[in-house]
Amino acid sequence: MSNIQPLFEQIKKIAAPRIVITTHHKPDADALGSSLGLYNFFKKAGIASQIISPTDYGDFLDWMAGEDTIINFEENKTKCEKLVKEADYIFCLDFNALSRINDLGTMVEQSQAIKVLIDHHLNPERFYDYEHWNSESSSTCELLYEVIKLWDYTFMTKEIAQCLYAGIMTDTGSFRFPSTHANTHLAVAELLKFDIEHHLIHENISDSSSEDSVRFVGYIISEKLKLIQEYRVAYMTVTQEELIKFNVATGDTEGLVNYGLEIRGIKLAALFIDRKHLVKMSFRSKGNFPSNEFAAKYFKGGGHFHAAGGQSNLTLEETVEKFKNALPEWAHLLK
Ligand code: 5GP
Ligand code: MN
Repeated sequence: MSNIQPLFEQIKKIAAPRIVITTHHKPDADALGSSLGLYNFFKKAGIASQIISPTDYGDFLDWMAGEDTIINFEENKTKCEKLVKEADYIFCLDFNALSRINDLGTMVEQSQAIKVLIDHHLNPERFYDYEHWNSESSSTCELLYEVIKLWDYTFMTKEIAQCLYAGIMTDTGSFRFPSTHANTHLAVAELLKFDIEHHLIHENISDSSSEDSVRFVGYIISEKLKLIQEYRVAYMTVTQEELIKFNVATGDTEGLVNYGLEIRGIKLAALFIDRKHLVKMSFRSKGNFPSNEFAAKYFKGGGHFHAAGGQSNLTLEETVEKFKNALPEWAHLLK
């Protein structure tokens, strides 16, 4: 669904439009790559914009052009409130429910700005005026590539191409998930024409872990990975003590859940992390198991069919019990 095409012409007609770009909390490479892709596109077109991240993010993303201009909402609430309130346009990238941007959500909702959604998650909340939305798209970065094609491809640069490549690469699991379509590869082929040195982007993102973080992953896989063979499920739990012991930083747990799915025959992998006030969960599945439906039914969550998340206010142990008790009902989809 898209009605975004006329928007760029509209924006160009305004003298000094006030543009805010925001994305989901704890942004990943797709969230930040698309936000910075759009920021750099506007910059090339001579239009200023400001990215607000609802929270901090992993430092494996700090190589992206313009990253140093991003404001962290948690550290600058008053400034962000003013920016959102006075904005003419607010671009919402890689999320479609205002709860995904924490307290910033209410501010965006109340702002008089024209709101624009660019996103690939199911069932968007209708809080926006313009959209470029497709839940079958690999990534928000692929969607932003399409938007730039629609608007003005002469403003595409190497910096934008690097940001978009990073998001497409990570959201497709390096071009292996079912969401990787011919159009995904065609977009990437175009991006490669900008000499983006894709091997360096892989290195920046994948090979930038701390020693603690690699040992943490090894420890969790070795000591905390549990299988429930009957249901083809693998799950891991992480306690607060473990987060402290291994100095786990933002971004360090990203990808951890996927190891469960590497085991032959496993159809559902789950990761439970005991954050201070809640247990945060990640689900990854193969085949017919709808991770998002499962997360929504039991854990106030959602996401994509094969990759979803949720949360719980129970203890870590109680949350795992709830998870295990739910499995029999879904057994037929875990075959
Ligand atoms: P992750 O496991 O990487 O945190 O999230 C995987 C996917 O699930 C992401 O696409 C994200 O949008 C979605 N997701 C994660 N946590 C939540 C949640 O609490 N609520 C909703 N609606 N979606 C979530
Ligand atoms: Mn995404």
